Amino acid sequence: MEASRIIVHIDMDAFFAAIEQRDRPELRGLPVVVGSPPDRRGVVATCSYQARRFGIHSAMPSRTAYRLCPQAIFVPPRHDHYSRVSTCLMRLLGQFTPLVEPVSIDEAFLDLSGLAEAQADTVATVKRIKHEIKRQLGLTASAGIAVNKLLAKLASDLDKPDGLTATPRNPAAIRRFLAPLPVRKLWGVGPVTGDKLARFGIHLIGHLQAAEPGKLRRLLGKRQAEHLRELALGRDRRPVVTEWEEKSLSNEETFAADTEDRNQLRDCMIRLVEKVGRRLRDLDRQARTAQIKVRFADFSTITRQHSWPAPVDSDREMLRAALTLFDRIPLDQPVRLLGFGLGTLHGQDRQAPSGQQLLLFPESPNPESARDRALDRAVDQLRRRYGSAIIRRNLNS
Ligand SMILES: [Mg+2]
Repeated sequence: MEASRIIVHIDMDAFFAAIEQRDRPELRGLPVVVGSPPDRRGVVATCSYQARRFGIHSAMPSRTAYRLCPQAIFVPPRHDHYSRVSTCLMRLLGQFTPLVEPVSIDEAFLDLSGLAEAQADTVATVKRIKHEIKRQLGLTASAGIAVNKLLAKLASDLDKPDGLTATPRNPAAIRRFLAPLPVRKLWGVGPVTGDKLARFGIHLIGHLQAAEPGKLRRLLGKRQAEHLRELALGRDRRPVVTEWEEKSLSNEETFAADTEDRNQLRDCMIRLVEKVGRRLRDLDRQARTAQIKVRFADFSTITRQHSWPAPVDSDREMLRAALTLFDRIPLDQPVRLLGFGLGTLHGQDRQAPSGQQLLLFPESPNPESARDRALDRAVDQLRRRYGSAIIRRNLNS
């Protein structure tokens, strides 16, 4: 199933610095540092490739950058300007596929699975995307093409700037492709884990692939060991999650103190579902998918998704899905944040062609769903008038 996905990661090259060099031709070809001036405490946000040759990089103190390259030109960041360029970029990407997930101001995942059958078509499409970015924005991007997000992101980084790297698609070739890369390139291997692995001679992803599973578990704990093993083999099932306005609804809650108390967590999940459900009904929409998010104390994050065969808008259905997904997640460490979201919304949106699909899933004359709907609407009204705490749900009902 995984082999059928075509995921593209687009990453702009030295984004802030490239915009400054585009707008001010006198800066082109020079070491440009966007960030705090060197006479103050502060860091480098981004620097041009000419500055990178001196060893300057993002998050480095500006003073250090100045020491490495006194002739560098320090430019204060113009964040509003960069985010306007980012909006144009995301809009441009959205013309190639509606499945765009912005990851940061200058990065996005695209799911091209439905658009191109053969790899050759994908490469041609990605070349067109890069060409349009250059033509419309005057900037260069690097791209990675792969069967999943993990590999696509690794690939876009391999040939910067202005690169295009397609990774292999079958598991054995993916394994060989990953083996020579540093283990620190893996998403989820931060400095602490990287140092820990290095002490045991694990420097490359290949070392991680070959590591004895029992040894890895003792070193990292069961959860992280299994997670890293999956990544080392290039396995990653995370979907591309679009964030169009009103195309998805979500809410999340961060706990004042991390907790492992399942009852407290379930209570929180119920609150989130009820909030999101009410917004859904206020918009007169229905949802086809539900997603939950669990972020643990170490910031590792799990998402799980459920799809309904027909659109739903009742709290009962959403709670059933959310709690079933949640109950299946092992709590090996305290939880920091919970989230709940709905996707693939149907309903009265003139622009959404999916509204038509409602006819394909006619509401069954099910007395239970009619009763649920009446109950949800009544509860929504009470809550609007008296606040959310007015009614508590009896989970056994
Ligand atoms: Mg970038």
